[in-house]
Parts: sequence; C-alpha cells; structure tokens
Amino acid sequence: MEGGDGAAAAAAAAAAAHSAESELVRDDVTREAHIRYFSMFLGLVPKAYTSLDTSRLMMVYFAVNALDMLGALDRLKNRQEIIDWVYMQQVVVVDGQNGPGCGGFLGGGFLGPMGSCSSSNSSNNNNAEDEADGVSKYHQAHVSMTYCALLVLAILGDDYSRVDRAAAVAGLRSLQQPDGSFQAVAMGTENDMRFVFCACAVSFMLQDFSGIDVDKTARFILASQSYDGGFGILPNQETHAGAIYTAVGSLALLGRLDDIDRESLERFLVSRQVQGFNGRINKVPDTCYTFWVGGSMQMLNRVDWIDVESTRAFLLSCQSPIGGFSKHPGKPPEAYPDILHSHYAVTGLSLIAEPGFAAIDCSLGITTRAYSSSSFYNKGGSGPLTGMGTPYRPPTDLQVVTTDA
Ligand SMILES: [Zn+2]
Repeated sequence: MEGGDGAAAAAAAAAAAHSAESELVRDDVTREAHIRYFSMFLGLVPKAYTSLDTSRLMMVYFAVNALDMLGALDRLKNRQEIIDWVYMQQVVVVDGQNGPGCGGFLGGGFLGPMGSCSSSNSSNNNNAEDEADGVSKYHQAHVSMTYCALLVLAILGDDYSRVDRAAAVAGLRSLQQPDGSFQAVAMGTENDMRFVFCACAVSFMLQDFSGIDVDKTARFILASQSYDGGFGILPNQETHAGAIYTAVGSLALLGRLDDIDRESLERFLVSRQVQGFNGRINKVPDTCYTFWVGGSMQMLNRVDWIDVESTRAFLLSCQSPIGGFSKHPGKPPEAYPDILHSHYAVTGLSLIAEPGFAAIDCSLGITTRAYSSSSFYNKGGSGPLTGMGTPYRPPTDLQVVTTDA
C-alpha cells in the first residue's frame, strides 16, 4: 500500500510539475521568447530569410507590430534608427529616370542608397547609363512596401512629416488598372486584390484618396464576391480567406462595407473555424488565418462569433520553444516558426483578447494604441478617422465569448 501510495504521489507530483511547466511555457517563458524572436528580425536576419531582402520592410513591420502587441515596444532602444532607415527606403522621383509615377517606398536597400550616386560613380559599374543623380530606373515604389513603411512609422510614433505625400499619391494613381484593380509596381506586375487593399490603406493613412478612383475600386472588389459569399483575388476566382481580408479591409477603409452581401460572407467566414481557422473549404487550419478570417469578422462586428478557447488552444499548439509560431502544429521541420505565421498568430491572440496582448484594429493590422496616436486618427472630430463614406470604427474594448459561456 505504502509503495502504491508513494507511486501514486510521485505520479501526481510529476503530473503537477508537468502541468506547471506547461503553464509556464505557455504563458510566461514563451512570451519572453516571442519578444526575443521578433527582436531578432530587427538586427541580423537569419540566412533563411536572405531571399526576402527585397521585402525587408515587411519583416520590420511584422517584428515591430508584434512587439507592440506584446507590450514590448519600449524594449526598442533604436527606435529613431529604425524610423530613419524606413525613410531611407523612400523613392526619390527623378523625371526622365524612374518616372513621375514611382513614388512611395522600396522594400529595402538592395539597389543601394537612394540619391548617393555611389553605384553610378563606381568605375566597374555597368549600369551607369541606367542611373541619374543616383536614381536607377528600377527605383520604383512597391505599393505593399509603401503600406508597410507607413504602418511601421505609425507604430513607432512618427508623424509622417518626411513622407513625400504628393509622390506617394501620384504613385498610386499610376498603379490603378482600367478594371479598378491595382498592380504593385509602375513598371508592371500582376494586379489583384492584395494591391487594391494596400492602395486603400496607403490612401487612408495619408488621408488622401485622390490617388485612386474610389467608385471603380469598389466595383472591382464587389465583382470579386463569389457565389459562396467569399471573395477571390480577382472576379471569378476561387474564394480564399486572404482575398476576403483584403476585400473587406479595402471596403472598410473606403466606408463601403454596407455594399457587400454580408449574410453569405459571414456564413462563409464562420464556417472556416475548425480547430483554429482554415482559409478555404476542406483545408487544414493554419495560424495566419486566425487573422485573415478573424480580422474580417472584426470589421463586420462579428468577433463575438469566434470560439475563443479552441482558437487559443490551436495557436498555443503552434508555439515554438525558441519563440515564434509555426503554420501548423507538429514536429520539426514542419513546426519551425517563421516570421509571417508568428506575426499573425500574435495578431490572433490580440484579437481574442489574450491577457498581455494589446488590442488591435484589423482594418490596418496595428494596435488600437498605435492607431489612436497616429497622424491619421481624427482626434478633433466626431470619429476616429476621416475616410470615405461611413467610417469604420476600430474597437477599443473587444467583447468576446467562449463556447463555455
Ligand atoms: Zn498561413
């Protein structure tokens, strides 16, 4: 009996220790690990991310925004350096060289410092004929990077005083296509809903919609709603939660959310919740869809339809002990974290009001703190913003329910 009791006590103690460890890993230690993980992307980026150097601004947005959601922005000791680095990516427009419709931001310094003439002065430079005043014909803003640049500046408290607004707005104008969609770069890329959203977000953050034809843009978005209620990235394309987020976000920022078929869209969105969220019918759940689906639900004021406990359990099952989140739960290499899924897992935890995570506004994907201290927040008016039509209002106090409630 004594031995049996001892074994039972040992098992109970082990179970308690395991439980306590799980709690510790889940809540405290991992949070610190996440802060270290995201901070890493503001310094020397791991080799695996080399190919993303042209999208460095996106990584900086993920890192800075995640630190803000984790309440750790004050750990950044080089905030001004980051702001200055972002401004270094602003495209200098030289007529006759990169063209008048190239304003906005590049994703990183891969073409060399703008306006330095450093590369054109080089004796072994073979591209001198392509450059004038240190500006290459390839110095053309990418609308997604302009979006990320303005987000990072807002999160870090910059007032946009050094943004060349006229050039950025002219840059947007050069990207819009006859069907109302946007391409990413003036010299030509694919055009779809992703870049429509970035154009709407940039216009919103600059509080200047003169760079886009709003009616034409809204028509393109509405034409992309499918028979199942979701949206494709183009009309007549398969519905996908990423496309839904960009469509709903664009309409929210344009004040046109009331134009969509809400009932079928809401049915499609809420049906994406399994254990976590998937992006399409019959797909496995994936951490990033917590934001693409959950963020769309927030903008539709349906965040209370999210099953908080199962969402939380799924996200926590994707945590890495070294910080960050993977796309799916599992074993390495499948369970290795990456910056994109780590960021959107954190936005998911913010969305469900996890303690210790700051509330977010999903139309822009930044904290309500950053939003309400930004230059585009309408502090003196009746609403939080001065967008087009009826403004979308970001939540400041999320109301969520659980299935147990
Ligand atoms: Zn994903």
